[in-house]
Amino acid sequence: MNIAHLLLGAAQEFRDIAALARGDTVHLGYRDLWRRVSVMSTHLTVRFGLTRGDRVAFAMTNCVESIEVMYAIWHAGLCAVPMNAKLHAREFAFILENSGARLCFVTPDLAATIAEAAKEAPALKEIVDVTTRAYGFMAVGDPSTIADCEPTDTAWLFYTSGTTGRPKGAMLSHRNLLAMTLNYYADVDRPPAGASMVHAAPISHGSGLWNFPMVARGVTQVFPESGHYDVAETVGLMNRWPDCSIFLAPTMVKRLIEHASAADLKPGALRLISYGGAPMYVSDLKRALDRLGSVLCQLYGQGESPMTITHLSREMHAARQHPRWEARLASAGLADTCVEVRVVDEQGRKVPVGEVGEIVVKGDTVMSGYWNNPEATAKSLRDGWLWTGDVGAFDEDGFLTLKDRSKDMIISGGSNIYPREIEDVLNLHPAVAECSVVGRPHPEWGEEVVAFVVSRPGSKVTPAELDRLCLDNIARFKRPKDYRFIDALPKNNYGKILKTELRTKL
Ligand code: AMP
Repeated sequence: MNIAHLLLGAAQEFRDIAALARGDTVHLGYRDLWRRVSVMSTHLTVRFGLTRGDRVAFAMTNCVESIEVMYAIWHAGLCAVPMNAKLHAREFAFILENSGARLCFVTPDLAATIAEAAKEAPALKEIVDVTTRAYGFMAVGDPSTIADCEPTDTAWLFYTSGTTGRPKGAMLSHRNLLAMTLNYYADVDRPPAGASMVHAAPISHGSGLWNFPMVARGVTQVFPESGHYDVAETVGLMNRWPDCSIFLAPTMVKRLIEHASAADLKPGALRLISYGGAPMYVSDLKRALDRLGSVLCQLYGQGESPMTITHLSREMHAARQHPRWEARLASAGLADTCVEVRVVDEQGRKVPVGEVGEIVVKGDTVMSGYWNNPEATAKSLRDGWLWTGDVGAFDEDGFLTLKDRSKDMIISGGSNIYPREIEDVLNLHPAVAECSVVGRPHPEWGEEVVAFVVSRPGSKVTPAELDRLCLDNIARFKRPKDYRFIDALPKNNYGKILKTELRTKL
């Protein structure tokens, strides 16, 4: 079973329906997309000499070529390694090296960064810029037949940061991705052929994962020309393309309803906004429902069980007359159709309804493990259950409310930031004795990064120096927005830093 069969099926069933669009303009129909992908796949195997299971990375701002590249990879029986376009050169270098990617596709804005990162990735032999003739040449030649794959072959290596701050590659198989696709139809939506989806959120993450249910139904996938989330442009595209779906992080939903151009949205233009990846405040959600109507569906998932743990459907959002409507809006909804979800204690025993515990998940969407990281795999996958690191509680109707993120992760503007990663960088400064990073609520971004720093006796360090250090080592959006210099970090009896106490000082 090869996930690229979804595109083959669509080419047969939806031939001339637009598969991809760049802004207002159709790029390729389903039949032509299929043909292009099968020719590109020949180049991957014959010209680049790639064989089943080889990793092919891509670092791209959102563009139609990202879908071409992904399906060419799967068609050839290879494994895609999507990288977030906002990462730092060092982070790209780590992923390229760790995954052993042999080829990397880029958009021109990232070409120099990837070339720099490639110096540390000996297996990487070639970088292809999708705006060059070299890429255009990949669409010329003979098509190949779709590669045979086992359902368990890894199709998508999803790099997610761990508690240690070092990214880990969650191995998602063809079967995982197919289960996620079918789950979309069961719990989220079943769009008709010729409907549309706008990709405004990063294609390396949630928005990209939703390509599968779109392709299999003959939906037109539309890429903003800016390659980013520009609210006015997005609203224009929603009005232009029929029956439009979109995936947005909660902060992006907020920006949409607060933007003047939201008033230009034509009635009925929006079919669905699926949102998730971070908590949505109930007050924002109510405003969004008032403004946009019953088009919102919430998803709770993680890279290790992509987009599929629980959902709060459009109907649940709309049920205002229900006595527990508000509590439900504050929850992440019911367990998804294709998984079993439990809340457990440290020994893995189910805790009673209403009690808080760790959320664990089992089912066909759950990853097979972390790439080349048996230790982390053993911690996360126990007896077939994925330990999510999230803490929550079920109510008596089966609605799951997330209480906290046990991993202390910060989510800013929909992007995950792991404190340890920033702490590691700040600790490089000779005048820093100790530091600890936490998230502070921010009205627009959800959270922002704050660093507590203890300097060494007799030495002095300035925020500007620490900022410089961060800019040299990690992605810009991860650097602290505030530095607090304190005499000592609060610690428990075991010497562990008490982040909860630090948060009370914000
Ligand atoms: P990622 O692996 O990057 O997709 O991040 C997954 C994490 O984001 C989860 O483990 C949760 O902590 C958080 N998350 C995902 N969806 C939601 C949601 N609907 N509400 C609150 N937090 C969420």
